[in-house]
Amino acid sequence: MTRRLPIFLALTLVACGSDTAPPSTSPSATPAASAVAPSRSAEPTAAAGAAVPAPGSDSVIYPPNPGQIVVAVEAGHGGCLDWGVPDPGERGQDFSEKAITMAIARALADRLAADGVRVLLVRDGDEALAGDHYPALGCDGAQFRDVNGDGIAGFGPDLPEATRTRDELQARLDRANLARADVLVSIHVDSITDAAGTPLPIARTETFYTDETPWGEMSAQPLAASVQDALVRAMDAVAAYERQDRGINAHNLYLVAPSLLEPTAERPDPLRQPTRGALMPAILVEVGTITLPEEHELLLDGIGTAAAADGIFEGLVAWFGQRDLAARITPAGTEPGDPPEAVPGEGPPFRPQPMEGRPLRLRIANTGTRAWDAGARLIGGWVASDGPYLYGIPEGITPVGPELPALEPGASVVVEVDIGEPPPGGGLAWFSLQVGAENLAGHGSPALQLFSAAP
Ligand SMILES: [Zn+2]
Repeated sequence: MTRRLPIFLALTLVACGSDTAPPSTSPSATPAASAVAPSRSAEPTAAAGAAVPAPGSDSVIYPPNPGQIVVAVEAGHGGCLDWGVPDPGERGQDFSEKAITMAIARALADRLAADGVRVLLVRDGDEALAGDHYPALGCDGAQFRDVNGDGIAGFGPDLPEATRTRDELQARLDRANLARADVLVSIHVDSITDAAGTPLPIARTETFYTDETPWGEMSAQPLAASVQDALVRAMDAVAAYERQDRGINAHNLYLVAPSLLEPTAERPDPLRQPTRGALMPAILVEVGTITLPEEHELLLDGIGTAAAADGIFEGLVAWFGQRDLAARITPAGTEPGDPPEAVPGEGPPFRPQPMEGRPLRLRIANTGTRAWDAGARLIGGWVASDGPYLYGIPEGITPVGPELPALEPGASVVVEVDIGEPPPGGGLAWFSLQVGAENLAGHGSPALQLFSAAP
């Protein structure tokens, strides 16, 4: 099933480049290009408007230009309050799901980094991103934050079920979205019990995705299938017991679901759905199971950890090798995938970077496998918004900046755009790319979002 991205009726586009300022029309019209480059630019004197060829590499994920690829790896669960599936043998948290998922995530991150790809470890250690403070259970982490904007935060019997969980998962989605990851891989380990809760000695692998985003069937489903197939092969190769291949499953688990603006018949409970869903193809992988003791031991062992990481890596290789249309838009002088750092306060911890420089210099890279003809355009403008960032394509967005030259896979270009002053009271600058008939934000390439710097 395919669904359009939600339209943001509540948001008003107050200004865009074509209304408030002439777009920079050609590189030769902006002789002062180098003078406006941020001082931390890696290429402060790069001429705007000229195609920069793909550097090439021996990467297997994306040979033309792996440094423009960002993979977000989310180790499921974590922190004092959320161990995930506990050890059936009651040996403690080092044997629980959260420890196994972190070990696999680190092994996968190492493989990706060695391939030249940038990695966002959504959590990097035994931590929660949205608070972990509950002294009654010995948890003395940071205070809870209302990340999803429902007005409540915390943990305990007086709060609706999963209050803490949904703020935590929303924070993890926000971090991957704002890093504009190409894919989000959430790593979990399952437990299988009978109706009475007795662990069943079954080992199996299963991968979840959603087909309800605009890119769900086209992109998330093949991602899930590639990772599932390679992961099953890798786990089978090191297991001395029977394993089950449960295949892929289209199911709106929180980490993979589209944004839920209003409850629907299929998704009646907004508590179990993200306010700001993943803006890229996202999968949740149940790598294996804790309830078969042999599999649990394998997953605690370096051999099982490496096999799981290898399987996910090989699945990503297969998927990136056939991803035809994708782009990365980065403020020139910043690195792709720089993770947003938490801001203090009680609300969402992760926010877009401030917009710096006017005109703005943006690097646009073709990160797909298909070459672009000349004529692709940035689309964007200022949007008035109270939220931390936008999770759909705002209305009224128009082309800004010059037409792009033809770009081979991995090639990039720096352009200058001027979208004028932010709206009174501040706002978000939103940029995506129009390639042919496709708006890439509707194709699973997250838009660049920047907030207006504080007055
Ligand atoms: Zn889990």
